[in-house]
Amino acid sequence: MPSARHILIVNSRSVHQPLFVVGAPHSGAGLIGRALKATAGFHVTIGQPSVLRTVYAFARRPSMYQGRTQAAATVIRDAFAQGWQVTPSSCLECTRECRAAAGLAADGVGPCVELRGLETYGDASPDLIYCAEALTYAFPDARIVQVIRDGRDVVASMLADPVVMSWFRPSFVNVDTEFPNPFFGIESAEDRDLWPRLSAAGRCALRWRWSVRLAARLHHSLPAGQLKTIRYEHLLSKPDEALAELSRFAGTSIHAAEIRNEARASAARGRSRRPASSRSLSTEESTEIEKIAGEELRRLGYSS
Ligand SMILES: [Zn+2]
Repeated sequence: MPSARHILIVNSRSVHQPLFVVGAPHSGAGLIGRALKATAGFHVTIGQPSVLRTVYAFARRPSMYQGRTQAAATVIRDAFAQGWQVTPSSCLECTRECRAAAGLAADGVGPCVELRGLETYGDASPDLIYCAEALTYAFPDARIVQVIRDGRDVVASMLADPVVMSWFRPSFVNVDTEFPNPFFGIESAEDRDLWPRLSAAGRCALRWRWSVRLAARLHHSLPAGQLKTIRYEHLLSKPDEALAELSRFAGTSIHAAEIRNEARASAARGRSRRPASSRSLSTEESTEIEKIAGEELRRLGYSS
């Protein structure tokens, strides 16, 4: 069970109920992370080097941390203790996305947040999802926002993203040496046997499927007050409603101009499910996704 004995102090403040945003790539977690970052009193980091190093260590070599929950919790707390420090140059090494969300120029030096009035720490780094379970050990009072989106749209967007696709380079893939392999969504021997024969769409579908199975596990292990599930489709079709729910959960008022803009653009396109930054799936790809993740799609109501 998680230990509640550690109190993390950053900038002489104790970290209470930090807020983390997780989701499969292209599920909308970045959008929500940026909205939270722009919220008064919140210090949300996106891609601090110390955090990314830890996230990818967990993502690439989960076996290193298996069963070593206390050690893993310490590694995570140390990474955030460093990442959350507010200094005159705090955002300097962050991702461009983090600086932009803070209103800094692309080459801008921080701080990306006012120390005065700072009440809540959070993080929305890409691929943070691979640390989600370890986060709940490291911070037993953590609040987690998980973002869910139709797996077919997630796959279509992943296929159009060169960064996501570069993870499938043979030099990077470690499905033979690391098993099970959450990063590639490989959980069973059957998945591992199937993997070499899958198309890129099938491989993306495996990654999505793992994220929704993780979402179900979090749902069982965390009390309702510590976990909020947001559907990307709901966020774009009824932004006021979704943001009101998110605001209640976060205990603040989230304005989120960017989310409203996205919602308007998506309504203008007429189909909230097809953003411009994705490509359409072929029949073969759709069939493969259905074969791999059909059960999860249906369970989440994403059928037909
Ligand atoms: Zn930053």
